[in-house]
Amino acid sequence: MAEREHFDVIVVGLGAAGSSAVYQLARRGSKVLGIDQYEPPHTLGSTHGDTRITRQAIGEGDHYTPLALRSYEIFRDIEKQVGEKLLLVTGGLMISSTESTGVNQVANFFETTLRAAQKYAIPHDVLSAEQIRIRFPQFKVQDNEMGYYEFESGILKPEACVRANLNVAEKAGAKLYVNERMIEYSEDADGILVKTDKGEYRADKLILSLGPWLPEMVGEGLKSRFKVYRQVLFWFDCSDSYENFVPGKFPIFIWDAQGERDAIYGFPAVDGKEGGIKIATEQYVSEVTPESAERSVSQDEIDAMFEKQIVPCFPAVKRTCIKSAVCLYTVTPDAGFVIDFMPGSERTIVCSPCSGHGFKHSAAVGECVAELARDGRTTIDIEPLRINRGALVKA
Ligand SMILES: Cc1cc2nc3c(=O)[nH]c(=O)nc-3n(C[C@H](O)[C@H](O)[C@H](O)COP(=O)(O)OP(=O)(O)OC[C@H]3O[C@@H](n4cnc5c(N)ncnc54)[C@H](O)[C@@H]3O)c2cc1C
Repeated sequence: MAEREHFDVIVVGLGAAGSSAVYQLARRGSKVLGIDQYEPPHTLGSTHGDTRITRQAIGEGDHYTPLALRSYEIFRDIEKQVGEKLLLVTGGLMISSTESTGVNQVANFFETTLRAAQKYAIPHDVLSAEQIRIRFPQFKVQDNEMGYYEFESGILKPEACVRANLNVAEKAGAKLYVNERMIEYSEDADGILVKTDKGEYRADKLILSLGPWLPEMVGEGLKSRFKVYRQVLFWFDCSDSYENFVPGKFPIFIWDAQGERDAIYGFPAVDGKEGGIKIATEQYVSEVTPESAERSVSQDEIDAMFEKQIVPCFPAVKRTCIKSAVCLYTVTPDAGFVIDFMPGSERTIVCSPCSGHGFKHSAAVGECVAELARDGRTTIDIEPLRINRGALVKA
């Protein structure tokens, strides 16, 4: 039998996290192979839909802020290398109230955002409802609501970022095999063996950045720590007052749940007058797998989104849904990421930055797992993201 090619590191899954990891490994001189079952960027995982919010003071936990800040630096550097704009600063408005029932499955999102902004000296304003109405009249805020406005928040283009990561990774020497599916992996005294539907490869280390396919590949003992939920993105018509929704006039926003309304988030109109504005909410009710998830969006879902979430908040947005997309969240019991070695292993690394807020951190997450694979430790503190933290073990 022909000798199998040996790599320092194999990265399986080349979405947001994996494409960043292969780049970070290649630029450090590692012999790295990246494998993906499809041809990223694609629309079947967690990294599509034109835009992702980026922000710096992170309401999901102030330990994420160093990842966000480092990601800004890396994305800016990659922009220069590929000559393409990946990150558009639009400003960001987080709206909350004393009656709010949360966002992103995270209690105290607004308070944690403010605390992180203060701790890391992130430029921001705190706005009363009246000040929001004056500065951003597009938002129909209630009297009890308030705002946190962050100047450097903005938009990342997920598909373009993945393409750019893979481009700079290849230039730095990474090998990339796409349309090749990993069937299984194992460890022995010589290292890692990865079997795909096309071949077998050996490596010293393995990074599993499988997005919503991860639960199927981590074994029964860990599987229950990762649940996958179907989410829907909607683009609604704002053409009647398009000029009020363009970047510069309209920020990215995250608006806590209040009353009957769920938490919503959205983006300015980045795709011209006919492109609409993208607004979405989150659901954590029905678990799916990438194979079982319904990929089409029904008229009932569109109507419910418009009536329940948009009518109370954006009077100028019209009922016409220009397009919609289905995307998958991978969620842990405390809604945090997992970046760690597999329990009992010094070779296999689990990398799951989903839970609805992972894209903005993905550049730094790739760097962390590259450091973990090469040196066994990371520059940024990832202790809160360990796989055996209390909240995950109890689940
Ligand atoms: C609707 C939605 C909105 C979001 N909004 C935001 C936002 O505004 N801001 C933000 O920061 N984050 C946001 N996120 C989160 C962010 O997009 C994700 O955290 C991130 O994209 C996850 O990337 P990933 O690399 O883990 O997964 P993916 O990008 O899905 O990559 C996994 C890859 O692994 C490959 N793969 C899986 N199994 C195998 C196998 N056996 N063999 C080979 N290849 C395999 C897949 O083909 C896929 O390409 C959002 C997510 C969704 C779904």
